[in-house]
Order: sequence, then structure tokens, then C-alpha cells
Amino acid sequence: MPQYSPEPFRIKVVEPIRLPSSKERKAAIEAAGYNPFSLKAQDIFVDLLTDSGTGAMSHHQWAAMMQGDESYAGARSYYRLAEAITDIVGFRFFVPTHQGRAAENILSAVLVKPGNYVPSNMHFDTTDANIRARGGKPANLVIDEAFDPQDQHPFKGNMDIVKLKAFIERVGVENIPFGMVTVTNNAGGGQPLSMENIRAIAETYHGYGLPFYIDAARYAENAYFIKLREPGYAHKSPKEIAREMFSYADGMTMSAKKDAIVNIGGLLCLNDESVFQRVKNELILREGFPTYGGLAGRDLDAMAVGLYEALEEDYLAYRLGQTSYLSARLKEFGVQMIEPPGGHAIYIDAGHMLPHIPQAEFPGQALSVEMYLGGAIRGCEIGSVMFAHPDPDSGQMVYPKLELVRLALPRRTYTQSHLDYVADTIGEISQRAKQLRGFKFNYAPELLRHFTARFEPL
Ligand SMILES: *Cc1c(COP(=O)(O)O)cnc(C)c1O
Repeated sequence: MPQYSPEPFRIKVVEPIRLPSSKERKAAIEAAGYNPFSLKAQDIFVDLLTDSGTGAMSHHQWAAMMQGDESYAGARSYYRLAEAITDIVGFRFFVPTHQGRAAENILSAVLVKPGNYVPSNMHFDTTDANIRARGGKPANLVIDEAFDPQDQHPFKGNMDIVKLKAFIERVGVENIPFGMVTVTNNAGGGQPLSMENIRAIAETYHGYGLPFYIDAARYAENAYFIKLREPGYAHKSPKEIAREMFSYADGMTMSAKKDAIVNIGGLLCLNDESVFQRVKNELILREGFPTYGGLAGRDLDAMAVGLYEALEEDYLAYRLGQTSYLSARLKEFGVQMIEPPGGHAIYIDAGHMLPHIPQAEFPGQALSVEMYLGGAIRGCEIGSVMFAHPDPDSGQMVYPKLELVRLALPRRTYTQSHLDYVADTIGEISQRAKQLRGFKFNYAPELLRHFTARFEPL
């Protein structure tokens, strides 16, 4: 048997992609202000910017879309989604939203007051920004191993329970509207949490009377990691494991663009009826009527099917197999990454590859620009461009611990030969890393600046 899991699907519709010439690539990235977010998709060959909404839907999902019920209220599509949610996640109430961040916005609008704290292992950037936008303060309490890219801890997304208790004691329960955790931990390398840790987080929050919300964007990948790595779970199905994870929580936000394998959609699920009332009012104001929440009926049907497909074992074996394969290929070139590879992405340690570029000159940005110039590959900087910010008290710049470039793999979209192409291109760059130079900002907005910033090479 081969070391990898071949794609458990065959291709029935294709989307042509084209490799632009090196001259075209140079012109395109210059016009984009050296920000890969501003490139035109037609100028990209392999797009690993994100796994969000970029997956390929199955023929079952496309067929389900044809049955979408576009009634304004009470559509059949809503009830089909409700059935899947009851079966898989088990929370009492839910609303669809147009994306994960819309769910975060609504939850924050309803529960976060100025000066409040919201702890998590690590908040994703949109969660962080939504809490801040309501005057709240997000806090990241992941275990220290998460910051050592070479540490082989099997559950590097775990929250540090000692830190969590100390944090709650320090800021006071009355200043915490709810606690969170992100599964898998996207901002920390797509690393999973163990069931044991999720249980301990729930016990801690509940011990202080705090509601516990899961950011469940990658619940299926996390469930499969638990199956592979945590004693006692090898014989359970990913669905049983997912259900157990959710059974410890009081609600969840979710970007359905991840593990529901749809191009657009989100969910906010919860057990508290009085909060649900306020959620519905906010939803009607921002998204739409509670039975469609900013989506078309057909989107709800695709989501209902996708929630199940993401839990299929052969799919998950292939999915997690892709990141291990790409990681192994990059290692042949001596490229360092966050170890072990995450579920949805590889995180290259650009700080390690480019030690001559200081954090203030954005080593991650330098590598992602070079990946485009070298092979029309698009990745995403997750380092100082995304996270460096002035300390509110001292005004001093605070830099993140790691300078990463994320290669996120869209679900069921690229083949192993695309992964070989990516590994060979980046491997070649790593051999001439010393020649790369840093960048400075030309323009940067205050919140979520990585999306629209423009740069100039140094
Ligand atoms: C993508 C993502 C979000 C935000 O979801 P959108 O659908 O992009 O708005 C929130 N949390 C995590 C962990 C994510 O990966």
C-alpha cells in the first residue's frame, strides 16, 4: 500500500487554470501592491490563500441545491439543515448566517460589553476583531508548546487550563460574558485539541458559571485527529467524536465554508433560549429572517449535506493525508514548518527561513510574494502583517511570536501533483532565501489590515 491516501473521488467537472509567465507574474504582484489578497484569481496557478469556501462540492451537494426551497420563511431547506444540526451538533437552537464572522458579530453584539474579556485558546482574526469591535478584549491562552514550531505535542491547540483559571480569577468572572475555544486552532497552525482538554475547558468555564462556545469551523478535522491520536477514540466514528465534543459546550459559531464544504455560509448554535431570542432580533437586523439568515435556501441544503460529507472517514484520511504529504515533501528541502502538520494547512516558519529579515520588515510577506513570483502560488502571511499592533498603554509595537506563511488546502480541489509543484517551487526558493528582502507598508487600515494593505519592497 502507498504511504498516502489517494483522492477518494474522481473528477467530473474541471476548471482550467493557467500558469502566467514570469514577466506577467512580476507585473501582477506589483499592481497588487505586493499583497497577494489583491491579486486577480485569474493570475494565480495554485491558490492556497485559504481553505475557506474554496472547496469542491460533491455531486450530492449540487443535487441537493436543486431542491433548495426559496420560501422567505419556514423553507424545507431550513428544516433539512435543522435535522442535520440536531443529529451532528445537538444544540437546541440555531440560526444560519452568511459566514462565520456574521455568527461572531451577532454573538458579540448580544453578549460582549465594553471592557469585557473573552478567553480562548487562540481567537481567529475575525473573532478577535468582532470582540474588539464591541469594546471587548480577546485573550489567547493556548499551551506554551503551541509557540515552539518543532514541538511534537499531538494536541498543540489545547488550552492551558492553569492559565485559564488564573486569567478568570484575575479579570473576574463578572467581566467575562462567555468563554471560547477554536477547534482546530487555525491561528496557531490548524492544531487540534484533545477531548480531554475540551472536557477540562468546559469544566473550568462551567465551574465559574460561564457559558462555553466552540468556534467549530474545523470540527470534523479535529474529530479525526482525536480518533487518530487520543487513547480510547480509535474505534469511534468521527461523528460520535464530534457529538461528544459539542456535548460539553453551550453553543458554537461556525464558518460553514470550512468543514461544511460549502462556498458560503455560517452557523450560530446555542442552548440558551433567552440569548437565542436576542440573537434572532440581531439576526433579522443584520442577516435576514431566522430561517434563512442571509443565505439562499439552496445554500442551506448544500450545507446540510456537507456537514455529513466532512465526517466521512475516507475523506478525512485523504484530507489530513494531503497536509502530511506536502509537509514531508517540503522537509526534503529543509523547509521548517509548524510540527506536526495541521489539518487544513501547512504553516511555513518564514522567520526561520529568512532570519536576515527583521519582524518589522515582514519576513512572511517576503516569502509569500516570492512564492507568487516563483510559481504563481498564493499563500497567506500569518505573522506581523496580520497581528503586530501598538500596545494600547505604551504605544510600543507588539510582534507575534511566529512569522508564518500558511498554505491552506481547499477541500477536494487540488491533486497530489499540484502539491508536488508547490513543494518543488518553495523548495527552490528556500535554496536562495538569503537573496530575499523585506517590505514596508504603503497603506494599512486599523482593523484586519492584511486584507487591504499595500506594500513596497525594501
Ligand atoms: C474562517 C474562520 C472564521 C470566520 O469565518 P468566515 O466564514 O470567514 O467569516 C472564524 N473562525 C475560524 C477558526 C475560521 O477558520
